Amino acid sequence: MSSDTFDGLVAIVTGGASGIGAAIASMLRDRGADVAVLDLDPSTAPEGTLPVTADVTSDASVRAAIDTVTSTWGRVDIVVNNAGIGAQGTVEDNSDEDWHRVYDVNVLGVVRTTRAALPYLRLSPSAAIVNVSSIAATAGLQQRALYSATKGAVQSLTVAMAADHVREGIRVNCVNPGTVATPWVDRLLDSATDPAAERAALAARQPHGRLVTAEEVAGAVAYLAGRGSGSTTGTSLAVDGGMSGLRLRPA
Ligand code: NAD
Repeated sequence: MSSDTFDGLVAIVTGGASGIGAAIASMLRDRGADVAVLDLDPSTAPEGTLPVTADVTSDASVRAAIDTVTSTWGRVDIVVNNAGIGAQGTVEDNSDEDWHRVYDVNVLGVVRTTRAALPYLRLSPSAAIVNVSSIAATAGLQQRALYSATKGAVQSLTVAMAADHVREGIRVNCVNPGTVATPWVDRLLDSATDPAAERAALAARQPHGRLVTAEEVAGAVAYLAGRGSGSTTGTSLAVDGGMSGLRLRPA
């Protein structure tokens, strides 16, 4: 992977005040981008980024946030659609209301942010969109029907948007993280009866024997956002310790 510099470019990271998004925002900032963090609560956005309060479930909120970014820096070159929420259960467990609520963030959030940013991306000489999907899109994880369907939709959208905008010079790719050590996973583990044992078991279930780090996901996003991947569009990059690509069997 190249270590592109993003000097002179403006990046937007949704959900950039925590976990994976914060690592992405920090890495793009460190490599020279002006970074805006669009988040429900941007108070924990990484230092040196522009914190912008935004709710990706509201078209007006997203448009106002992009207006803030463009009136500050006059351009948008990179959009990282990272904001997302989880859901557990089978199709019997989640109500229609649950489906609408999670789909609204995980899928329509991508649509709204992309739609508002496209007029600016068209003006950029190095426009890139990176969506944060998940291995859940295709892994067949148990008790994750709704979440998996939203992440599958993000993958499909990635390919469809890549096709629609390739001739405009806008690349669209996605990353599929495995299990990443973030506050999200901490919250899930904290609800277990023995969080430490559950954390160790979770690490042991990963092919490479540990959780993925948010910085590793950020590295993949930076690659896909950068000029070094200028001929790559419509693809998904797994960052999962081999979870989706390997066919490991017990020795
Ligand atoms: P996180 O909960 O630590 O951070 C998510 C951020 O998104 C928070 O800052 C939150 O305020 C923000 N957010 C939530 N709803 C929002 C909304 N409506 N508008 C604006 N911001 C909103 O989560 P994370 O683990 O860093 O996950 C980030 C992304 O990575 C999500 O899309 C998630 O599905 C994906 N992902 C996570 C993992 C994992 O193991 N942690 C694995 C695969 C994919």
